[in-house]
Amino acid sequence: MAEVLVVVENGVKKVTLELLTIARGLGSVSAVVFGEADTAKLGEYGAEKIYAASGEDVEGYLVAPKATVIASLVQQVQPAAVLLASTQEGKEIAARLAIKLDNGLLTDAVEVAADGTATQAVFAGSALVKSKVTKGLPIVTVRPNSVTPEPAAASPAVEQVTVAASETDKLTRVVERVAEQKGSRPELTEAGIVVSGGRGVGNADNFKLVEELADLLGGAVGASRAAVDSGYYPHQFQVGQTGKTVSPQLYVALGISGAIQHRAGMQTSKTIVAVNKDAEAPIFELADFGVVGDLFKVVPQAADEIRKRK
Ligand SMILES: Cc1cc2nc3c(=O)[nH]c(=O)nc-3n(C[C@H](O)[C@H](O)[C@H](O)COP(=O)(O)OP(=O)(O)OC[C@H]3O[C@@H](n4cnc5c(N)ncnc54)[C@H](O)[C@@H]3O)c2cc1C
Repeated sequence: MAEVLVVVENGVKKVTLELLTIARGLGSVSAVVFGEADTAKLGEYGAEKIYAASGEDVEGYLVAPKATVIASLVQQVQPAAVLLASTQEGKEIAARLAIKLDNGLLTDAVEVAADGTATQAVFAGSALVKSKVTKGLPIVTVRPNSVTPEPAAASPAVEQVTVAASETDKLTRVVERVAEQKGSRPELTEAGIVVSGGRGVGNADNFKLVEELADLLGGAVGASRAAVDSGYYPHQFQVGQTGKTVSPQLYVALGISGAIQHRAGMQTSKTIVAVNKDAEAPIFELADFGVVGDLFKVVPQAADEIRKRK
């Protein structure tokens, strides 16, 4: 059975386990790791082989050397497919890899079939498109939260990979790494539940209401661009075309109108709940459950009900 390369970025995230789960349907799973990674966890989810690249050449620069390493592995291993996460880093590596190999590329898939056909959700999730790479092997980036990770124990053999980065790979150097201060909430793009607030939340202080509901549900907090631009919430939590793409099981939109640019970042969420005082708000075209009402009345009541059921 041909190998399927799963590119692991920055340790082993939930999306990595999802990629491993999908990859098992395509072939024998090999993970590609850069620097330190939890190899036991990769084995737990079916990685039969781990290609490990480390050292200054891959860790001291931005993503370019990683694409070089994977391109070299593709030539050596001739895998059936390469799967990456649809994150900023994953998509940049995938694009560089496709150019290096003169290969087709599909991004933002929500499903990858055994023959490499990728499914993408388009037009605010109202249509599904099935596409296949017609030149080269399937290089596909998959959105986080597209599948439920399923364990399948394997004992991976670790193979060290040494590939020298070229001078052009070394044009942007990492000068400092600062650990992000993490709160108790899940990471936005990885969260199974996201509660987002928009301009309707009114001010930064009121965002406590959004945070409270997110905490009760064990979710992450997101925001629309209007909320971010108005200074209600920090930019790294913006959901949408120019923000993060999320695809949780549950997305709760509070005081968000549902502009196309916002939808672009959340339209593949499994269940969408919207609270908006305007019954004509476009978010209701997308929502599975909608409450036409004032969020300052609806959210505290919802929070009370959730507390009672805990
Ligand atoms: C190139 C480009 C990129 C963009 N990228 C993004 C992006 O990444 N993400 C993004 O979100 N936007 C993006 N936008 C902006 C986008 O077009 C919208 O302007 C923005 O999404 C609107 O945010 P909003 O829904 O919070 O605000 P509004 O459109 O002002 O909607 C606020 C909503 O709150 C409701 N409301 C008000 N008070 C209450 C209340 N008390 N209770 C309940 N409901 C209430 C109102 O009825 C209204 O529907 C982008 C725009 C452009 C041009």
